[in-house]
Amino acid sequence: MMMKYEAVIIGGGPVGFMLASELAMAGVGTCVIERLEKPVPHSKALTLHPRTLELLEMRGILERFVSKGSKIPSGHFSMLDTRLDFSGLDTSCPYTLLLPQSKTEKLLEDHARSLGTEVFRGAEALAVTQNGEEVQTIFKDRDGSVRTITSKFAIGADGAGSTVRKQAKIEFPGTDSTVTAALGDVALLSPPPSGVLSLCTKEGGVMIVPLSPDRYRVVVISPYRTQTPKDVPVTEEELKADLLRICGTDFGLTDPSWLLDSYHDERHPAAEGLLRNTEAQTKLIDFTQAGLHLRSMMSELLAFPDVNRYVAGQISALDVRYEADRTMPPNRLNGARLPDMKLILSDGNSERLYSFLQNGTFVLLSLRQEADDHIEVKGLCTVTASLAEPNEKLRDVHTILIRPDGHVAWAVDASAPDCTQVIQKGISRWFSVTSRV
Ligand SMILES: Cc1cc2nc3c(=O)[nH]c(=O)nc-3n(C[C@H](O)[C@H](O)[C@H](O)COP(=O)(O)OP(=O)(O)OC[C@H]3O[C@@H](n4cnc5c(N)ncnc54)[C@H](O)[C@@H]3O)c2cc1C
Repeated sequence: MMMKYEAVIIGGGPVGFMLASELAMAGVGTCVIERLEKPVPHSKALTLHPRTLELLEMRGILERFVSKGSKIPSGHFSMLDTRLDFSGLDTSCPYTLLLPQSKTEKLLEDHARSLGTEVFRGAEALAVTQNGEEVQTIFKDRDGSVRTITSKFAIGADGAGSTVRKQAKIEFPGTDSTVTAALGDVALLSPPPSGVLSLCTKEGGVMIVPLSPDRYRVVVISPYRTQTPKDVPVTEEELKADLLRICGTDFGLTDPSWLLDSYHDERHPAAEGLLRNTEAQTKLIDFTQAGLHLRSMMSELLAFPDVNRYVAGQISALDVRYEADRTMPPNRLNGARLPDMKLILSDGNSERLYSFLQNGTFVLLSLRQEADDHIEVKGLCTVTASLAEPNEKLRDVHTILIRPDGHVAWAVDASAPDCTQVIQKGISRWFSVTSRV
C-alpha cells in the first residue's frame, strides 16, 4: 500500500513540531495532527534553558527565538534567594531565555512547515491501531468527518493524558503531583521596581516575571492551598489576597488573561534526573520554621561557586551525559555533550562547530590535519579542522563522531593504539560506509 506519510505525529506542541522538523531533515515524510485550530495564546512555559537553546543553535534557528525573548544570565532553584549563575557555564548559551511557550510553539511550527511538514489543525486523534506493519490513526477532522491515515509509525506527542499512550497501553509510572500552585498572566498597575520578583516567606512564595511591557506572570505557592485539587478554579481575588499577604501589596493586579488554572507539574519530562530535581525543589517549599531554616541553609550553600555550578548544570540541562558506546575504547568524551567551539578548517576559513549540525546529521570531526583519508558516508558530514582556541578537554583527540543532538557518540585519542582502525570500526558501527576515496 502506498503511504503518503511514513510517520504521523499526534500533537502539535513543542515536542511534536521539533520532532517533525528533525524527521523532515532526515527525509521522513511526516504530518502533524493537532487538536487545536490555532496555537493557544496563553503560555505554560516561559523559560528556555541553555541546553534547549544549544540545540536550536545547532539547527541554525536560535536567533529567531532570541530576537523575540529576553536573556537572563541566571535561573532559580526552588525560588531560593541565591540565583543560579549560568553566565560561567561552558556553553555558547550561558543564559535562560524568557519566551512565552506560545511564541516557541509558533516558531517551531513555522520551522517544521518550512521543511515540508504537513499540519492538520483542528484535527483530534480518536484512536490508533496497529495492523501488522501498518498503523492506522483515526481522527476527527475540523469539519467533523472521521478520517484514517495509514503510516508506518504513529508518534504520541500529545502531552499529559496522551491518547496515544493509552491506546498503546503504555503505563504512566509517574507519581501524582504533591503541590498545587496558582498561576495568572495579568496586568500589574504597580509592578515590582525591576519587574521581577522572587520572594518566599512563611506566608508563602511568589514569583513575578514580565511577559511583555504590560503583562506579567504571577505564580503563588501558598501554604494554605498546596493541597487544593487542581480543578478548583483560581479567582482574581484569591491571587490578590495571596500577594497582599505575602508581599504586603497586590501590585495593582488586574485583567487576568487565562481562565486561571493551577500550576501542575505533570508535564515535566519523564527524565528521572529532572524529576528528582523538581521533587527536591518542591520539598524545599516548606513554610514551617524548620523548613525556612533549611531554605536559608540551602541558599547559603548555593553561594559556594562549586555548588552553584553543580545545581546550575542540572537546571540548565547542560550536565546531561549519555552512556558511552561500550563497543568503543573508553574516552572521557564518550556520551558527553560537546559545547560549540570555533574551528579553523583545512582551507583556512573559520567556522563554528554547531553550524555543521544544522541539517541534523552526524558530524565526523577530525582534529588532525594530517588525517588525509576522506570518508564519504551517507548521512555523515565530515569535517577536518583544528581548534581555533586551546581546549584542554580535546587536547589529545584525533577524531570525534558527534551525534545530531551534539553529544559525542565516540572520540578517539591520537595516542590510541590502532587509531585509524578504531575510527573505521566506530564509523561502520553507526553507518554503512558507501565509499572511501
Ligand atoms: C504552568 C506551567 C509552566 C511551565 N514552565 C516551564 C518552563 O518555564 N520551562 C520549560 O521548559 N517547561 C515548562 N513547563 C513544561 C512545558 O510546558 C511542557 O514540558 C511542554 O508543554 C511539553 O510539550 P509537549 O509537546 O510534550 O506537550 P504539550 O505542550 O502538552 O502539547 C501536546 C499537544 O497535543 C495536542 N493534543 C493532545 N491530545 C490530542 C489528540 N488526541 N489529538 C490531537 N492533538 C492532541 C494538544 O492540543 C497540544 O497542543 C511548564 C508547564 C506548565 C503547566
